[in-house]
Amino acid sequence: MSPERVVIVGAGQGGLQAAISLRQNGFDGAITLIGAEPGLPYQRPPLSKAYLQDGKAEALVLRPASFFESKQVEYLPGSSVLEIDRAAGEVRLDGAGADRRLGYDHLILATGTRNLRPPIDGLELACDLRTLDDAARLREALAGPRRIAVIGGGFIGLEFAAVARKLGHEVSVIEAAPRLMARAVSPAISRHFEDWHRARGVALHLGRAAIGVDATGVSLDDGARVDADFVLLAAGVRPNTELAEAAGLETGNGISVDAQLQSSDPAISALGDCACFPDPRSGAMVRLESVQAATDHARLIATRIAKGACPDYQALPWFWSDQGDQKLQIAGFAGPGATEEVVSEGLVARFDAAGLAAVETVNNARVHMKARKLLGPGGSADFAALKEAIAA
Ligand SMILES: Cc1cc2nc3c(=O)[nH]c(=O)nc-3n(C[C@H](O)[C@H](O)[C@H](O)COP(=O)(O)OP(=O)(O)OC[C@H]3O[C@@H](n4cnc5c(N)ncnc54)[C@H](O)[C@@H]3O)c2cc1C
Repeated sequence: MSPERVVIVGAGQGGLQAAISLRQNGFDGAITLIGAEPGLPYQRPPLSKAYLQDGKAEALVLRPASFFESKQVEYLPGSSVLEIDRAAGEVRLDGAGADRRLGYDHLILATGTRNLRPPIDGLELACDLRTLDDAARLREALAGPRRIAVIGGGFIGLEFAAVARKLGHEVSVIEAAPRLMARAVSPAISRHFEDWHRARGVALHLGRAAIGVDATGVSLDDGARVDADFVLLAAGVRPNTELAEAAGLETGNGISVDAQLQSSDPAISALGDCACFPDPRSGAMVRLESVQAATDHARLIATRIAKGACPDYQALPWFWSDQGDQKLQIAGFAGPGATEEVVSEGLVARFDAAGLAAVETVNNARVHMKARKLLGPGGSADFAALKEAIAA
């Protein structure tokens, strides 16, 4: 029997998509979307890119207010779910819905992540870049000339660094790993971006951990100092699993779900940044931080709820990062230990025990799209075929 009341916790990219897809699939029960942040659901990717320069907050909004009325989705912004009562099939909220309880037949957890705050002295002086409020504060900070230190050489820190440098600020990036974006890309792509940032005057401190922040800069673990009057913390994230844990759901590196994105309680699903799920290719439990995963998860869960059944999750992961004029795109997902073959500058194939796992491209949308076809469901995932497609 299809559930009559669906409650979605978290009104980010994935939570909103679940509401949209439920209605697109003909679900005619009650939908309540609960979001801790104020305002309409918005997209985060531009926060470290276009928004920092143009400040156009309205361009980030994913659906206008009229959507919620016309699709009969009850939207509760500025409300946090404090507790899941699985026995009663209820969630307890605060904020705008002060101490309200809300019943569900199916609950979707789309709680995302929050910034990791490593134990660094004085870290309260550093700014985050996760929400629209954070980004608005950063825009103000970028208004005057600054010496900026970015703690963390991952996608978000580097995207911010590229914008700040373009705006004429002095920028240093401090990364504890020996190379940039080490968790996500091959060594060859790390080198490409190291060269690109250095050529634009960004000072890179690789293999150095920040140990202290104060009003004049950042102290590093080798005793060096990075002078800065403004510090951005972009050292990774942590999945918001506390609600699930307190409710006794299985968790690991995120809320554990199966290939149907169902948690250890069949009345609760989880999606996006907060969920760890079996990678369709390797079967390993993975947690991805990408719009693609959040929205594809949401579509599957909505289909399952509305239609009563759906095929297991098969979607190919893909990612992008815009750093200045360099558009990095990744088709597929290569875990740690993957080997690489550099096809040409800015075009790298990555392999694991099962063969071709991922293709990384820089400013090469054509090859990226071909790689997505080859690696996606029904594709041959064959390196020779990729090389032929590149040559064509
Ligand atoms: C600056 C930045 C740049 C990015 N750039 C890219 C990019 O270029 N490409 C890409 O693919 N991805 C990018 N991402 C990642 C992408 O935005 C996320 O993967 C995506 O938003 C995940 O969607 P989600 O629905 O899982 O979580 P989110 O969109 O993070 O939404 C989770 C929401 O849940 C709310 N919430 C949490 N707990 C509760 C609670 N108890 N009650 C109510 N609400 C709650 C949170 O407040 C939040 O609004 C970027 C992220 C950031 C921050």
